[in-house]
Order: sequence, then structure tokens, then C-alpha cells
Amino acid sequence: METVNFLRDPPSDMAQRRQDLTHIPSGFTLTLEDHDLYWPFVSNVWSISTPANKATTEKTGIETSWWQCRFSRQPDAPTASGIVNSSRRDHTRTRCEVRIKVAKNLSTGIVTYTRTKASEGQEHSHSLDEIDQYKINSGVKNAVLEELRKGYSAKEVTKNFVGKGKASIYPGVIVCGGEYLDTAEVGAWRRDLKLPATEADPRRSGKGETWEEELAKAEESCQRLDMRYRLLRVKNQAGKWSNGIVWASDHRLKTLAKRGYITLFDSTHKTNLLQFKLFTWMCRTEVDHKTYLPCAGALLDSESGDTIAAALAQICHWIKDLGLEWRIKYALTDDSAAEQRAVALTFTEESKESLGNVFGEVEHLLCQWHCKQTLNRQLHGDVLTPANRHLQAALWSRRTEAGCDESI
Ligand SMILES: [Zn+2]
Repeated sequence: METVNFLRDPPSDMAQRRQDLTHIPSGFTLTLEDHDLYWPFVSNVWSISTPANKATTEKTGIETSWWQCRFSRQPDAPTASGIVNSSRRDHTRTRCEVRIKVAKNLSTGIVTYTRTKASEGQEHSHSLDEIDQYKINSGVKNAVLEELRKGYSAKEVTKNFVGKGKASIYPGVIVCGGEYLDTAEVGAWRRDLKLPATEADPRRSGKGETWEEELAKAEESCQRLDMRYRLLRVKNQAGKWSNGIVWASDHRLKTLAKRGYITLFDSTHKTNLLQFKLFTWMCRTEVDHKTYLPCAGALLDSESGDTIAAALAQICHWIKDLGLEWRIKYALTDDSAAEQRAVALTFTEESKESLGNVFGEVEHLLCQWHCKQTLNRQLHGDVLTPANRHLQAALWSRRTEAGCDESI
């Protein structure tokens, strides 16, 4: 389970277990499994003083380690300015002498926690809350790091973890000891991760950080290049909103109207750091039948058929605006369901009237390269390889039905 989901809904005894693992009631034990679950959430309380000895562990089957309270060291000395140290959290509490022994019995699977002789009967000189103020435990921290690695900004992660909104997981975070988590800390962790700006943080790119900023940049480019463009905001079947921008230049729209009998749909993923999908509509040039010209494009934050359809409808509209029509008959796609749905949505009976599409229903062609890939994936091995070879011959070389039948 993702740690963030664990924090959203922590075990009901989390708060109690954190107290137990701080104050160590006499005779307190946990199973190994529970130890591994809860211990990261008191990592801020204990620092190791003596790690387990490997040889002893092997000999006895019990892994024993010794821990001391985080505040066992001398408090930070105040500086001339009165600020104790450079970090926001400082240790000004009275020195705390509590030390414990953690014994994991590897054969019974039981972990026993006891005070060391020297600190028997002693209480912490502070509360667990004071430690939580001083340092965030690694259970909470790891959940934050996980989210940062997914590419969310420090601001977004903080909002999710300790924000006031409905989507915030703050109630669970408090139970897990993260009450005092804040933006400054999350920002510092993000810097420590040294995430490369590219892959690790897809939502942040160059100067632009958000979809809105990316759109603004795209708009500016379209204006500079004197292209038509339109921002799209579309609600898909699932009720989710998606954003996009569609663009084209007049002279390429004219080409599309003239040569778009067969239109190639191309979609590219991971085109920018925000992981938007780039769609390009191309048609063949007048010169030969092999060169395709990009005629219109769209950058969309989702690959839903509805959003692609909105882009297509806009292109149709622009072409009509030029007094022309997009006489698409064949849509050459890589068999993407979303693209097929978009074509169906755009070139329906009604729109055909208004768009003047005289060819009737648009048919789909599949690109040879993807057909080749599929054949190679499906037909291999001793028995099927000859079949694959014949089908590839039909795909690439045969130009007539008779020749094709012969091959197969
Ligand atoms: Zn203590």
C-alpha cells in the first residue's frame, strides 16, 4: 500500500502505539510485523546507541539493540542572537536520560521493549508532542518523499498533507505524528532529494509550473507564429475535466482541406515535462505519397476521446471558416480507441451536414508499423513464424487482392 493511503487512514491504535513506544509500559511487546509497522512513526523519539551484534543475534536468535531518547544530548547552546540553531526546530528541553532495549526474538516473532537498568523508573523530561514539534518521524517523512518523487511540488504535497481542504489527509497525519509538518520542511526535503527537473518532477517544467502557465506559453507561441488557436476545456464521459490547446495555420488548414482525404493521426506521449499528449494531424503532400505534412496540432492533458473530438471539431470549424471542407474519408490511426471515438464523435451524421463531408462515414486504416508490431508479437515460434512471414509480405509488398490471397 502506498504510504500516503496509510496516512489517510491509519490503524485505529496508531496514536496509542506511538505513546506506548515512547513511554514503554512495563512488559510491553509487539509482534515483529507490528514493530515494523509502528516503529518508523517513533523514529523521531529514539536514536540508536548500540546496534545489534550480528554474531550474538545468530547465536541466540534474538536481535537486541539499545536506544536513547532524542533529547538525551545536551540542549543546543543559544547563540549571541538568541536563536538556538539555524533550523526552525531546536532542542532547548532539559536533557532526557531515558534509554531502552529492543529485543526481537526472531523465532517467536515477538519484540520486547524494556528500559535499561539505568533509566528504569525514569520518565521522559518532555512529552511525545514536544518531540513531534522538534522532528518529523520517518513514517510521515517517507510518505512525503514518496509523493515528491512522483513529481508533485512541495506546495502541492503540503496542501495534501496538512491543508484545510476536503481532500487533505491532515487528520490521519496528526494521528501519525505529523501535526507540525509544514511547507518549509517539505521544501527542504525536496531540495535534499536533488530531483532532476525533468523526469522526477513532471509537473514542474522550466519556468512554468502549472498547466495554466504551460498554456500561457503555448498561447504566446501561437500568437508569435500567427496561428489560429483555441483553449479547450472539456468534460469527458467520466465527468472529469481536461484541458488542452489546439492550433493550426491557415495555409496548412487549406492543405488539410485539399489533401485530407486520408488523414494521419499521430499521438506522442511525454512531449513535455507535464506529460501532456501531443496530437498531430497530417496529410500527404502534393509532391509524393510518402511525405506527410503536419497540418494541425493539439496539446492535451488527457487522452480522452471527448477532448480529442473537441480539438477535431475546432479544426473542422476553422476549415469551414476558410470556406473549405475537410473531406476526410480515411483516418489512419494506431488503433487507439480514444482517437476512434473522437472521429466518431466529430464526423457524425449531423456534423457531416454542416461540415459538408460528402464521403459518408470515416473509415479507419491502421498504420503498417503498428500492424507489423502486432504480428510480430502475436505470431512467433516454430509454427506461427511462416504465417507471420506471409502476412508481413501481404502487408508490405502486395498491392492487389489476388496477390494478397496468394501470399496468405
Ligand atoms: Zn525523552
